Amino acid sequence: GEALAVSARVAPLGSRLVLLLVEDLTEARRIEAVRRDFVANVSHELKTPVGALSLLSEAVMDAAEDPEAVNRFAGRMQIEATRLTNLVQELIDLSRVQNDDPLEDAEPVRVDELVAEAIDRCRHQAGTKQITMAAGGTADLHVWGNRGQLAAALGNLVENAVNYSPARTRVGIAARHITAPGAGGTSQAFSSGGLIEIAVTDQGIGISEKDRERIFERFYRVDPARSRATGGTGLGLAIVKHVAASHGGEVTVWSAEGQGSTFTLRLPEAGAVRDRDRNPHHPV
Ligand code: ADP
Repeated sequence: GEALAVSARVAPLGSRLVLLLVEDLTEARRIEAVRRDFVANVSHELKTPVGALSLLSEAVMDAAEDPEAVNRFAGRMQIEATRLTNLVQELIDLSRVQNDDPLEDAEPVRVDELVAEAIDRCRHQAGTKQITMAAGGTADLHVWGNRGQLAAALGNLVENAVNYSPARTRVGIAARHITAPGAGGTSQAFSSGGLIEIAVTDQGIGISEKDRERIFERFYRVDPARSRATGGTGLGLAIVKHVAASHGGEVTVWSAEGQGSTFTLRLPEAGAVRDRDRNPHHPV
C-alpha cells in the first residue's frame, strides 16, 4: 500500500503506470476474495438450519410412537425454520440496500415515526426481558432518505440493544439536530446543512475494542452461539452501515465492556437537502 504509493510518486511515468495497474489488480483480487468469502458464508449459514431440519424430520418419523418426543422435535423444527426465514429476509434486505439507490425515492422522514416503529418492532422481546425503552428529543426532526431503509437500519440497532442486554435494563433512544462540520465533514454527500443524530444506548454486555472494528462486517459476530440463540444472522450491522453510507451519513459505536454500548446514526436532515436540490429557476 504505502510503499507502493510512495515509489509510484517518485518513479518515472512508465513504471508509475505499471504500479497503478498492480494496485488495481490487488484491489480487484481483494474484492474477489470478499465476494468468495461471502458466498461461502451464505452457503454455510443456509446449510446449518437445513441440515438440522432434515435430521429433525427423520427423528420425528422414528419417534412416531412417542407423542411427547414428536412434539419436542417439532418445536425444534419450528425454531430452525424461523432461523432460515430470518436469514433469507436479511439477505434480501442486504441485497436491496446494496443495489437500490435509496435517494431515488427519498422523502423527508419524521424521526419520531422511525423511532416509534423501531420500538414497536422490539416491544415483545423487550417485554419478556422487562427492558424499559425510552425515547427523547425526536419531535420536529426530519431526515432525508428512503423510509423503508431508514426504518430497517434503526430497527436493527434497537433490536441489537435489546438482544445484547440482560433483563431489567434500559434502552434509550435520543435524537438531536447538530450543525454539520465544515465542508468535507461527517456527511459525505451533503457536507452543507444540518445533520440529525440518533443514538441508541443500552446497558448490555458491551463490545471489546478489537471486536468493535469488525462488527459491521457481514456475518461477523462476537459470540456466534449467543447471536444464533437470539435469532441473529450477523447481517444487521452490515445493513445499518450500508444504509447510513448510501444516505451520506455514518454509523459509529462507543462501548465499555460489561457496561453497555451506544450506536450513533448521523443522517442529513431533510430541510438542508431540499434547499440544496431546489431548482434555482423555479420560483420558490
Ligand atoms: P446479529 O444478527 O448477530 O445481531 P449484527 O450484524 O446485528 O448481527 O451484529 C454483529 C455482532 O455485533 C453481534 O453478533 C454482537 O456480537 C455484536 N453486537 C451488536 N450490537 C450489540 C450491542 N448493542 N451490544 C453488544 N454487542 C452487540
